Amino acid sequence: MRGLMMDHPLLISSLIDYAADVHGHVEVVSRTVEGPVHRYTWKDARARSAQLAHALVGLGVGDGDRVGTIAWNGYRHLELYYGVSGMGAICHTMNPRLHPDQLTYIINHAEDRILCVDLTFVPLVAAVADRLETVEHVIVMTGRETMPESSLSDLLCYEELMEGRPEEYEWPMLDENAGASLCYTSGTTGNPKGVLYSHRSTVLHAFAASLPDALGVKEGQAILPVVPMFHANAWGVPYSAAILGAKLVFPGPHMDGESLTRLMRDEKVVASTGVPTIWMGLLDYWRANDTGVPSLELVAVGGAAPPRSMIRAFEEEFGIEFRQGWGMTETSPIGSLNVVTPELRRMPIEERLDVQVRQGRRIFGVDWRIVDEDGKALPHDGEAIGELQVRGPWVCSSYYEHDQEILDAEGWFSTGDIATLDSHGYMQITDRAKDVIKSGGEWISSIDLENVAMGHPDVAMAAVIGIPDAKWTERPLLVVQAREGSDVSKDEVLGFLKGKVADWWIPEAVVFVESMPVGGTGKVQKTRLRELYGQPKSKESEA
Ligand code: AMP
Repeated sequence: MRGLMMDHPLLISSLIDYAADVHGHVEVVSRTVEGPVHRYTWKDARARSAQLAHALVGLGVGDGDRVGTIAWNGYRHLELYYGVSGMGAICHTMNPRLHPDQLTYIINHAEDRILCVDLTFVPLVAAVADRLETVEHVIVMTGRETMPESSLSDLLCYEELMEGRPEEYEWPMLDENAGASLCYTSGTTGNPKGVLYSHRSTVLHAFAASLPDALGVKEGQAILPVVPMFHANAWGVPYSAAILGAKLVFPGPHMDGESLTRLMRDEKVVASTGVPTIWMGLLDYWRANDTGVPSLELVAVGGAAPPRSMIRAFEEEFGIEFRQGWGMTETSPIGSLNVVTPELRRMPIEERLDVQVRQGRRIFGVDWRIVDEDGKALPHDGEAIGELQVRGPWVCSSYYEHDQEILDAEGWFSTGDIATLDSHGYMQITDRAKDVIKSGGEWISSIDLENVAMGHPDVAMAAVIGIPDAKWTERPLLVVQAREGSDVSKDEVLGFLKGKVADWWIPEAVVFVESMPVGGTGKVQKTRLRELYGQPKSKESEA
């Protein structure tokens, strides 16, 4: 027997409508690329999202069309989130730190028709423009008076496009399973893969992230997502904030310790989200300047494992609650959270930290298990180590325009994270199955680096492993076996990489070996390299 309730779709447009109707007076505050702080309300955000939707219709954007964004966290990006998805198109956010070749690949693969870019990134687009196969218009997210000089002659101005457009838009009653936003992940080897979020997955994830033990803000309280809006939709904060009626505070490109501290203090930020590297920088700044942010109650940290010393610093030195989360682009991203329960609060600090370094317990909506190499489920005893698999309504079922089957027969998605699960429900990552390196919250592909390094005529073999780093969590280490008779130097090899990969991918350290350890199948034994060279560069990290 079917239930007799409305089959009313879960749509992103309903989030912005709700925010405008119910929390209309609550502010959205942005440090802009141009410099000044911009402020308006959720009601204004809806009006401008509607204007944007009209403008895009004017440019011929229709249902399911991809609109790319290369932008910082700011109010115009927020309008793109809501305007583009609301009208039925797909908001495709891109990471500007990718190498131009990767960015070109992603734009062409997604078949973006429009690109919306912050001033900062106009040169980036200009540099690859002649390789873009589907882009019809590039919109610069700024006003007329700040439009840049560029080799691109036909740049459009965001504010000019908006002018005079109606402030209401009849958001279409879409299928809730329709695609809403697209985010490519470089988490595995090879070309980046697109994760296409649906309206339904986005709204359900936003509900979950709005539970009291998740983002930790209430109506009117300020949350500052440092995590970029191009990284799994800033962990869904722009959507949850609409439900919660939270004041959104965006840092734009100004993410150094001083700028973040000032913005947090000025706007009385209560909660903030970001990867460990950002918090490391902020802690250093606070200590050096004998400051802090009195209003800040909670930092939510994920994307990479935070060191124990960092958790201790926030909780003990600054009295700020530390909430670790685990997730992936493929999981929207929140999969688990490590909340300081009343029981944990009562524990002695060292015992509590033993728990807090874990990746947390699954949030409602996400189911998980660990399996061995044959896919057999392992016990949740805190001892057995296996690959973490997840499933749930905001976990991806396949990649965009990609034929790789990614779910097993029972519908589980394999995360590539190697973990234990204990009887209290806590997951702890012990390793990663993938060889990719996560540095400052962003991926570095070891394979890509190796391929480029091996293009050097004097390099016989190259392998890249991640080594722990106190600031960036991990940095790449390049291991080189030089050709016989060659005396190629570290500087020559590193110089060769320059320009072929993003600058921040280039390792600081190179180790030369007589012969590379190779296993039975002819593959380099990275586990052996990790044993030999994978020691921490710095003793600062207690993790
Ligand atoms: P991304 O898709 O870029 O968000 O990366 C997802 C990956 O980041 C996961 O599969 C993990 O390997 C890693 N990750 C995310 N959160 C954590 C965490 N709290 N601790 C350790 N690794 C994490």
